Amino acid sequence: MLEEAKQKIRNISDFPKKGIEFKDITPLLKDAKAFHDVIDAFVQKFANEHIDYVVAIESRGYLLGAPLAYKLGAGLVVVRKPGKLPAEVEHVEYDLEYGTDSLEIHKDAIEAGKRVLIIDDLLATGGTVHATSELIKRLGGKIVAMAFLIELTKLQGRKKLSSIADVHALFTYEN
Ligand code: AMP
Repeated sequence: MLEEAKQKIRNISDFPKKGIEFKDITPLLKDAKAFHDVIDAFVQKFANEHIDYVVAIESRGYLLGAPLAYKLGAGLVVVRKPGKLPAEVEHVEYDLEYGTDSLEIHKDAIEAGKRVLIIDDLLATGGTVHATSELIKRLGGKIVAMAFLIELTKLQGRKKLSSIADVHALFTYEN
């Protein structure tokens, strides 16, 4: 069943720059059954974890995080690129292959002790979710797990994250 959904993920070579094999999830999202099946697979995995908040990362993380939060009966918290959130924020900077990037969360987005599930579309080096986990820890949230539609195993992002909490990916590729 999920194998059919996996077949809907499209590889685009050299996007957004040369040498990158981009995993395009738009064909999966537009297929009603595939979209339904992947959200339900996440729901089944986390239904008994008493998740208070699903934390979704801009921007493809939102496409999975919003329906997942709704179905888990959890709240949705957004992590955004700098300058997008209107109220007071926590800010984190993290290293990329070349240069740095930043993410922000509203300071009042998560109350201390709340149970949090982080979701993003894809795990590559793990830098994005590692930085997100830092934001959540500063607010006192308890990270229950980190979920991804896709894991690129060759980049070993799981290693970077597994000391924080459980890492769960529906589909794996070497790269
Ligand atoms: P990382 O921080 O290295 O784990 O990178 C994860 C973030 O970059 C995710 O938000 C992905 O959307 C994006 N990303 C990285 N590599 C790819 C790829 N090959 N295809 C699609 N998105 C990617």
